Amino acid sequence: MSISTTIVIAGGGLAGAKAAEALRDNDFDGSIVLFADEEHLPYERPPLSKEFLAGKKSLPDFTVHDSAWYRDHDIDLRLGTGVTSVDPSAHVVGVADGGTVRYDKLLLATGSRPRRPPISGADADSLYYLRTFDDAQRLNSALGQASSLAVVGAGWIGLEVAASARQRGVDVTVVETTRQPLMTALGEEVGAIFAGLHRDHGVDLRLGVQVDEIFSADDKSTGLRLRDGSTVIADIVLVAVGAHTNIELAERAGLSVRDGGVLVDTSLRTSDTDIYAVGDIAAADHPLFGTRIRTEHWANALKQPAVAAAGMLGRPAEYAELPYFFTDQYELGMEYVGHAPGYQRVVLRGDVAGREFVAFWLDGDNRVLAGMNVNVWDVLDDVKNLIRSQRPVDTDRLADPQTPLSELLR
Ligand SMILES: Cc1cc2nc3c(=O)[nH]c(=O)nc-3n(C[C@H](O)[C@H](O)[C@H](O)COP(=O)(O)OP(=O)(O)OC[C@H]3O[C@@H](n4cnc5c(N)ncnc54)[C@H](O)[C@@H]3O)c2cc1C
Repeated sequence: MSISTTIVIAGGGLAGAKAAEALRDNDFDGSIVLFADEEHLPYERPPLSKEFLAGKKSLPDFTVHDSAWYRDHDIDLRLGTGVTSVDPSAHVVGVADGGTVRYDKLLLATGSRPRRPPISGADADSLYYLRTFDDAQRLNSALGQASSLAVVGAGWIGLEVAASARQRGVDVTVVETTRQPLMTALGEEVGAIFAGLHRDHGVDLRLGVQVDEIFSADDKSTGLRLRDGSTVIADIVLVAVGAHTNIELAERAGLSVRDGGVLVDTSLRTSDTDIYAVGDIAAADHPLFGTRIRTEHWANALKQPAVAAAGMLGRPAEYAELPYFFTDQYELGMEYVGHAPGYQRVVLRGDVAGREFVAFWLDGDNRVLAGMNVNVWDVLDDVKNLIRSQRPVDTDRLADPQTPLSELLR
């Protein structure tokens, strides 16, 4: 590609920054314009609900690159500037400041925003949502003054904030509609393990109950009215009921989208030859699972950009990584790998009560679809190999910690 080529990146999160890095690593010497509608240098979000709230990390610790890096790599980084439109036939993006920029290739990395539930009071300014560093700063200073927190939603972010708040001595109530926390991600059996973890740390976990209203109790505290007739009063209410992907740009540009995702092939190319998509918004054909997968996971934002960059530079590659996710809550650290929406059974291996175990999700033929290692740190490659093999396993041996996982494939 010639020096006169321009690649535009819309979205200044981890994926956008990693794409700029991958393009330069691949000796691309044309122009790179990176639009980021936040005012901060691109940063990673996982610490926002964990180490940042625990006072263990500050923004520079999880900023992807410092400003000198963008200058030294000749990246035209436009902070506080959103892309407002894409015209695929003219190869032009419109920008919030009224300007336009022509592109040869365009990468969409626009990520997600918090979902606002259709609950009365969910739009009040006094509530807390958590997506950006600014959100985290506001929550962090509120937690410093608060003695109680109510969390709507027992998903990853709700539970991580609950754990951080408990560790700061704040009373925490978590309200969740489904029967267990993390039901969609992990299912009922493993969700129950997380319920036990939080209850053991003093969280008042109200499961299987709907929040009907979020209200102001007085000028300082807010509360929740639940469908079972009870109320929860707290100094702070955090709403954490999932994310909504920022796919409007792609939709308006006429790209193929479905179920909140921008459809991309295995090389992460959209329905337009010159436009790629990565990170939270990318619903990518997966070569192993033979289906489209879209996950809101840090690992995609980290690793997909190198594949998209190769494609934009005319050297198409394939994104074949297994979906990967991690969390840290209290003394529990875990990694989850795989994709198990239609799993038939769960096999547990190790000390579940002591929270040192591996969980496996299997299909009807006893093939491992996904695995989660909890406080066990040397098995991730073996779990990946089991998933990739797509071979049935002996479930008794799988559950037996004395049988090395590597032997199950022999
Ligand atoms: C609090 C929190 C904790 C998390 N913890 C974990 C974890 O423990 N493990 C894990 O695997 N994942 C975790 N995640 C998820 C992970 O952070 C996301 O999957 C990842 O950030 C996605 O990266 P992205 O670059 O695709 O999108 P984003 O990080 O959302 O970045 C997109 C950026 O683009 C900007 N943007 C949007 N539209 C435009 C536009 N039109 N023009 C210019 N800029 C635009 C957005 O404002 C944003 O800054 C967490 C997320 C949050 C919020």
